[in-house]
Amino acid sequence: MASVSCDVAVIGSGPGGYVCAIRASQLGARVAIIEKDELGGTCLNRGCIPTKALLQAVELIDLQSRAQLYGIKYEAPKIDFKKMMARKEAVVKTLRSGVASLMKSNSIEVIKGTGVLKAPHEVRVSPASGEEVTVRAKKIIVASGSVPAMPPIPGIEAKGTMTSDDVLNIDFIPASIAIIGAGALGVEFGVIFAGLGSKVTLIEMLPQVIPTEDADLSAHLSAALKKQGLTVLTSAQVRRVEDAPKGGKALTIAKNGAEEKIEAEMVLLGAGRKPAIFDLGLDNLGANYDKKGISVNSRFETSVPDIYAIGDAIGGYLLAHVAQHEGMAAAENALGNNSSVNYSTVPRCIYTSPEVAAVGLTEREAIEQGYKVKVGKFNFAANGKALIMGEREGFVKIVADETLEEILGVHIVGPRATELLPQAVVAMSMEATLEELSTTMFPHPTLSESVMESALSANGRAIHMPPRSLK
Ligand code: FAD
Repeated sequence: MASVSCDVAVIGSGPGGYVCAIRASQLGARVAIIEKDELGGTCLNRGCIPTKALLQAVELIDLQSRAQLYGIKYEAPKIDFKKMMARKEAVVKTLRSGVASLMKSNSIEVIKGTGVLKAPHEVRVSPASGEEVTVRAKKIIVASGSVPAMPPIPGIEAKGTMTSDDVLNIDFIPASIAIIGAGALGVEFGVIFAGLGSKVTLIEMLPQVIPTEDADLSAHLSAALKKQGLTVLTSAQVRRVEDAPKGGKALTIAKNGAEEKIEAEMVLLGAGRKPAIFDLGLDNLGANYDKKGISVNSRFETSVPDIYAIGDAIGGYLLAHVAQHEGMAAAENALGNNSSVNYSTVPRCIYTSPEVAAVGLTEREAIEQGYKVKVGKFNFAANGKALIMGEREGFVKIVADETLEEILGVHIVGPRATELLPQAVVAMSMEATLEELSTTMFPHPTLSESVMESALSANGRAIHMPPRSLK
């Protein structure tokens, strides 16, 4: 059996794992990364990147129709779905080779195969074919990520129900699709398929779409989705999934105390992930974990000395940038530093049309936490650049502490919301107040002026909105 010795071994090469490996290498460690599939993990191969590549395609269809506003008329678009999927795959491949070359340039040894923890300083790697490798490391960092989870709905496991992994590899556009769950994943797929011409039904158990976000964002997105032709069912629970008599699937849905049936060619699980930790050999070492993930402290140390865990494998925010920051902090801690992650300013972005982006507390969360809040809101309808772009829907909402005026949360729905958010993240990371954001000069004409105006509006001083709109 071959063997490799290193300072740091990382299991999993998703955004958490590969960033962790690079940081460890930057700090002078000899690093090996173990990956059973493609480099880049869920994010690059089955998550962030492929979904956004498809959303970009759908945005182009929408832009084509909006061009008419400007006196430009294109022929009605013809969709070559195979080509669209091939382009998505090309983007993935390019980025994947970028990760491979980063591994090389940082002298990180890539070991292909499934890693299992055998002893506190030993990982056994079984490749798909060929000889097993024993990796001996002073420190081990588990970054094994997550995989789709099947909710306990009768009939859901039968053939024909798609996970997000499956649906990214289909070769036809379904005439109709029922998406179970209207969190970030569900609404993004909803917008993709509606944009491609499918009849989309979104089914959400909780009372609002994107349930963890501010109620105003959710209400706005819900209305926008309906306008785009999606059917949105909230407070609706899927009871059963069966084969429909004429093909496709029949879903029995409980809503308002009654049951209704809908049929769709395809059913997609738009929610539910579980950590990929159950075959890792954690029990061999007595490491603590539960169904949400591996237990770690604020230094990302597990209950076993010299073993760390990060990313989706530890639960919490299942987001690529969170995994990356945890990866950097864990690498630093494994190599003698004392790093942690600030979870109060985690950006949350949803790449629908319109986009949704938020950081910090929702208005309700702030009130529940005992804050007396001051809220500012600025509508894109009053922003020059939004008008130029023909995208006047949406707003920036800011939630601040009434007394100290510290910004507690920023919530945006509208054009380029995901690109606008980071300025709010920076402001909040620096504990900025409404006054500081209001007196910062923003360039004109840009969408970003709406962020400044929302801060002004919290104190009734927005310039480009009539006073009566200032609530
Ligand atoms: P992963 O990316 O899951 O990587 C884990 C890696 O470990 C995998 O490559 C796996 O093969 C490997 N592995 C597992 N077990 C072993 C083992 N025993 N041996 C060897 N290798 C192993 N997040 C965002 O921030 N923005 C988005 O827009 C976004 N969109 C998403 C869209 C979809 C459809 C999905 C499913 C997720 C999306 N996410 C998004 C979430 C994001 O993909 C994850 O949070 C992120 O990938 C987690 O990174 P990670 O490194 O912890 O794990």
